[in-house]
Amino acid sequence: MNARYTSQRCAECGHVAKENRLTQAKFLCVTCGHAAHADVNAAINILRAGLALQAATAS
Ligand SMILES: [Zn+2]
Repeated sequence: MNARYTSQRCAECGHVAKENRLTQAKFLCVTCGHAAHADVNAAINILRAGLALQAATAS
C-alpha cells in the first residue's frame, strides 16, 4: 500500500477517500462509519503496513 494515503484510509474497512478526513483531527469513514482521531487512525494504518511488510520479508 502507499503510505501517503494512511491519513485518508479507514483502519476498519480500508476505504480510502479524502472525504473520510473531516478535519485535521477527525476521521470519519464515509463507507462504514468508523470514527477515530485522525492521528490514531493513521497510526493503525502505518502499524498494519509495517506488520504486513515484516510478514512478507520474514520467510
Ligand atoms: Zn471504513
